[in-house]
Amino acid sequence: MNKIIEAVSFAADRHKNQTRKGIGKIPYINHPVKVAQILVDCHENDTELIMAALLHDVIEDTTRNEEEIKGLSNVILSKFGEIVLLTVMEVSDNKNLPVDERKRLQIVNTPDLSDRAKKIKIADKINNIIDIKNDPPENWTKERKLAYLDWSKKVVEGARGLNKKLDQYFDQVYQDVYNQLKSL
Ligand code: ZN
Repeated sequence: MNKIIEAVSFAADRHKNQTRKGIGKIPYINHPVKVAQILVDCHENDTELIMAALLHDVIEDTTRNEEEIKGLSNVILSKFGEIVLLTVMEVSDNKNLPVDERKRLQIVNTPDLSDRAKKIKIADKINNIIDIKNDPPENWTKERKLAYLDWSKKVVEGARGLNKKLDQYFDQVYQDVYNQLKSL
């Protein structure tokens, strides 16, 4: 419990100046907290998994270069342990690559991730799709939203089969938002 609060606090510090892409300018920390909540709602209670979910975007979104990644990795390792660090690394895109390549790699690499990383991938996509519905980025067209949905589904395809409730949650959110967009 204390370790989980520590992870929330650490993520809050790292993301303190960031907001989500949506028009609502929601504080970024809401996202990893919701991702962790989705996992808890689906009866996941492994402490390492929940900590990694809370920290899942700190490397990708709060570092600017290899040196910072290395420094932050050492902090995560000493504060939260090796499993948490490795899981966070697994779900972090390489920002040196172009966006399209990163997206392609997520589809290709997800089937080989650890179980913890796969569960975080699904919960992450669930929350991102919910945000597309409730707080979409201002300039996103319907087509772009549908393309995001389509890509998410392909990533999740390689991650499913570990937690039925989580899989069903994704399918339900996907269908819900897909239907809503199609009816516009
Ligand atoms: Zn995320």
